[in-house]
Amino acid sequence: NLTEKFDSIFKKLRGHGRLTEENIKEALREVRLVLLEADVNFKVVKDFVEAVRERAVGQDVLKSLTPAQQVIKVVRDELGRLMGEGEDNRLDFGGRPPVAVMLCGLQGAGKTTSCGKLALKLRRDKRNPLLVPADVYRPAAIDQLKTVGRQLDIPVYDSQPDQDPVAICEAARRFAELNGYDTLILDTAGRLHIDATLMGELVRIKESLAPKEILLVADAMTGQDAVNVAASFDEQLSLTGVILTKLDGDARGGAALSIRAVTGKPIKLVGLGEKMDALEVFHPDRMAQRILGMGDVLSLIEKAEAAISRDDAAAMEQRLRKEGFTLETFRDQMQSIKKMGSLDSMLKLIPGVGKALKQAQGSQLPDKEMNKIEAIINSMTPEERRNHKLINGSRRVRIANGSGTKVQDVNQLLKRFTEAQKVMKKMQQLGPKGLKGLMGR
Ligand code: GDP
Ligand code: MG
Repeated sequence: NLTEKFDSIFKKLRGHGRLTEENIKEALREVRLVLLEADVNFKVVKDFVEAVRERAVGQDVLKSLTPAQQVIKVVRDELGRLMGEGEDNRLDFGGRPPVAVMLCGLQGAGKTTSCGKLALKLRRDKRNPLLVPADVYRPAAIDQLKTVGRQLDIPVYDSQPDQDPVAICEAARRFAELNGYDTLILDTAGRLHIDATLMGELVRIKESLAPKEILLVADAMTGQDAVNVAASFDEQLSLTGVILTKLDGDARGGAALSIRAVTGKPIKLVGLGEKMDALEVFHPDRMAQRILGMGDVLSLIEKAEAAISRDDAAAMEQRLRKEGFTLETFRDQMQSIKKMGSLDSMLKLIPGVGKALKQAQGSQLPDKEMNKIEAIINSMTPEERRNHKLINGSRRVRIANGSGTKVQDVNQLLKRFTEAQKVMKKMQQLGPKGLKGLMGR
């Protein structure tokens, strides 16, 4: 899926200490492929990649300490922008009640379900909605909405299948005026494909009722098709927004990206299940994060951190309690860190510790350095690992020879280790919570 794909792209980026224009280019090439595969509209992808390139290249990215993270942030920001981040996506109920909200879309997109969900949401917002069945073609359609209404205890206008849909809507409006309903939710008919007769009917309803909101209900699972449907509905009806349904399935997310970009109309609500409470306000930033699979830029690191399984972390925590922080636990911990990426990124996760260690080391620890440290520790005897104070001058020479390093390297490691041990003691004084922070979640 889209999230996993992005994940692997960024993993590749993460391997680079410094990001070059070439790296960015390569990453963007993959971003483009991933988006196209996810059924994002071709033109949208092109513009998107270009926007990311413009913002990434030349900017602070090349100078930054964590360039990969910055590229990810640019991608995230652009995704958010593409989906309308920062815009007001709330439904508009201004004007004299009853205000009409019209839901339209292809058959099976989720109109009737969304009408019910929306009514429930509005009632929770202290509005007084009336559901209006205006789909007279499918015999069961009116009954379906009536069932939904009964289930939610929300009134449904008593339409008859032999009535004209426009007449139904007009009568429902009079009924609402007389009975104090402030919002009409119009459930219109759908077809399997775009159809001129249906469009004509929807246009007549629009002209007669002047709905404040004309929302296209689109099935996220249909990907690129949803985009084409959105474009033609918008052309005929001038949509005010979109309800994107079935985002709970394994929709590839492409529709969410493209619909907004192609029609310029905001996604206002998303359907996340068949249940009546599974309708949520659309948050472009959350969607961008969902697509990228991260809470924020740093969660890339958190993700990697999860490479240490919960069990690993718990076992390590127990060992640290029992054996204390020795060269042995240090090495094993380092192996876990290696699973997660660089020690440098680990250090940043630990407030205070990162700074302290950096000061102690003067610089960051590259992966090569980590391999060296591992080799040195591996050349020690178990006793030495458990008690580094045993390691005198002659032992240092032996260890250096055994690990193919210099005595200075062994000295430096032991110095670093004693620094780390001090920090570790401080962390342990903080209690299990502080320790957990160090060990990862
Ligand atoms: P309509 O023809 O547009 O009125 O579509 P319906 O409201 O009858 O929905 C068609 C099918 O999609 C039904 O089985 C719904 O339960 C299902 N459905 C609607 N919205 C969602 C959603 O957000 N998630 C899931 N999983 N199913 C949905
Ligand atoms: Mg229906």
